[in-house]
Amino acid sequence: MSNKIMRLRLLVTTLVIILITLVTCHATVQAHHKPVTEDMATETSNSVEEPLSLGELRKKYSETFKFRGPEVKQIALTFDDVPDPRFTPKVLEILRKQGVKATFFVVGSRAQKHPDLLRQIHQNGHLIGNHSYSHPQFKNRSVKQFQNEIQRTEKIIQRTIGYRPKLIRPPYGEINEGQVKWAKLNGYKIINWNVDSLDWKGLGKEKVKANILNAVGPGSIVLQHAGGGVGSNLSGSIDALPDVIQSLRAKGYHFVTLDELLHTKKYK
Ligand SMILES: [Zn+2]
Repeated sequence: MSNKIMRLRLLVTTLVIILITLVTCHATVQAHHKPVTEDMATETSNSVEEPLSLGELRKKYSETFKFRGPEVKQIALTFDDVPDPRFTPKVLEILRKQGVKATFFVVGSRAQKHPDLLRQIHQNGHLIGNHSYSHPQFKNRSVKQFQNEIQRTEKIIQRTIGYRPKLIRPPYGEINEGQVKWAKLNGYKIINWNVDSLDWKGLGKEKVKANILNAVGPGSIVLQHAGGGVGSNLSGSIDALPDVIQSLRAKGYHFVTLDELLHTKKYK
């Protein structure tokens, strides 16, 4: 009997010792791990807040956010910052002579000042896209500001040519995830480019030609301008245009508007 009690005591003591050891160890481990856990938490929340790059946005929203078309022998010429009476009529005249249809991205504040010129672009058979009202950098603006700029411009375009464009080109190609999501939810497509003429820098004809012809390929979306700010010089870009068209045609390319290249509708 007393032997049994002794064994029981020994067992209880052993258990208590094991328990104390376990608790101490756990506390030590926890104390040691705590700052690490905090670090990881900080890292994780940082990586969640880190905005996605344009490349990541294009991958994640590949149906909404385009920068090129399928690899067929088609090219879409696109002209931003229109309408501008200094440059847009000259571009229209060249495209008319060459029999090329292109896509023009309209700035709302300019369309308000020059509705006849916007109407002329449309009547010449070109596609119209939305390029914001006041040409801001959208990356650090709210979704609400993005929405206001797009909708204000589309009202002006609709009352001038009769439709609300489906295609949006954000100024400077910059946009954030919230804005892409809003565009997707509301049936728009965001269109950037994969060939940049850099014509806004006032480059000469040969440089603009080289920038386009050295980078272009099947399904390319080419960025040029047919409007600009105070002191802009787009004469190099305009002079390069007939040569660009002719040399790409000689290589078997066809010029199409973005709705045709991307198999999408023109309007909402
Ligand atoms: Zn622009």
